[in-house]
Amino acid sequence: MAETIYDIAVIGGGPAGLSAALTGRIRNKSIALFEHMDFSLKLQKAHLVDNYLGLPQITGKGLMQQMSAHCLAHSPDLIKEKVVNIFPGDDSFTIATPKNIYNAKTVIIATGVVATALFKGEKEMLGRGVSYCATCDGMFYKDKDVAVISYSTEGEHEANYLDEICRNVYYLPQYKSELSGMRSGIEIINTKPRSIEGDSQVEKLVTEHSDIKVHGVFIIRQSDPVENVLPGLELDGEVIKVNRDMSTSIPGVFAAGDCIGKPWQIAKATGEGLVAVLSAISYLEKKANK
Ligand SMILES: Cc1cc2nc3c(=O)[nH]c(=O)nc-3n(C[C@H](O)[C@H](O)[C@H](O)COP(=O)(O)OP(=O)(O)OC[C@H]3O[C@@H](n4cnc5c(N)ncnc54)[C@H](O)[C@@H]3O)c2cc1C
Repeated sequence: MAETIYDIAVIGGGPAGLSAALTGRIRNKSIALFEHMDFSLKLQKAHLVDNYLGLPQITGKGLMQQMSAHCLAHSPDLIKEKVVNIFPGDDSFTIATPKNIYNAKTVIIATGVVATALFKGEKEMLGRGVSYCATCDGMFYKDKDVAVISYSTEGEHEANYLDEICRNVYYLPQYKSELSGMRSGIEIINTKPRSIEGDSQVEKLVTEHSDIKVHGVFIIRQSDPVENVLPGLELDGEVIKVNRDMSTSIPGVFAAGDCIGKPWQIAKATGEGLVAVLSAISYLEKKANK
């Protein structure tokens, strides 16, 4: 069977990604739309949105339902997996999730912002005990002690998986909903993490109440720092550097929405998603005519 190579991979199903995927499908391109949680859980928390033109006084949840239904009616391939790495190749990009590998000729990054500040030591210890994906890195911690800091219920699944292979699993939920279906061996610790410390490898997680001795710390947020997903992508401070056509420093990679900077607003995100996909389409046409 021939391997599918999508015209465009859209990473993130918030307003920016949905807008890009919608117009991409209207322009008859094959689209892989990656969304690992529900469509913009962040915006779904908005009690009331009153500045999105044409849809006054709508809840964030209602707006996301309308946006996702509109986009999905045009049948992009919705892939409910987390993109953990993007590798540029000669003619296409390889996109890795914990479960599969996909290919696309162009990529649009629309992953939103990392909503919380990074922990002290997190950046320095990345790959040396800090990870954003249990399925990808869990085996490195077989029979060892790990902590999972999670901002959503997704972390409960990650912790359950780690509990099958690790010696001790400490779970630090940073959200309000009730925990359900967690394995009995997992120790739940309700506290705020402060820093991740160690010499060459993680040795402990420091929280506001105690120090937890661990070999690994898994952090589950809605969005991860983008430089971890696509190393080498030029940044402007914390956000992705783009040109007016939403192209980035890597040919064939475009970005839109909160991940390229302020103002963090829905109208800006949808507009940039549109510009990014039109630019990706021009890029594809130029390559095809070479
Ligand atoms: C409480 C609240 C209220 C707000 N109210 C308003 C308002 O009234 N008006 C307004 O204009 N703006 C408002 N905003 C801001 C608005 O929500 C954002 O500007 C907008 O959602 C940005 O869209 P986005 O698509 O860039 O990113 P996001 O909405 O953050 O979407 C990014 C998506 O990418 C997914 N994702 C991330 N990483 C990956 C990965 N590696 N693999 C697969 N999927 C991934 C995430 O799960 C998420 O669904 C509000 C924000 C909050 C938090």
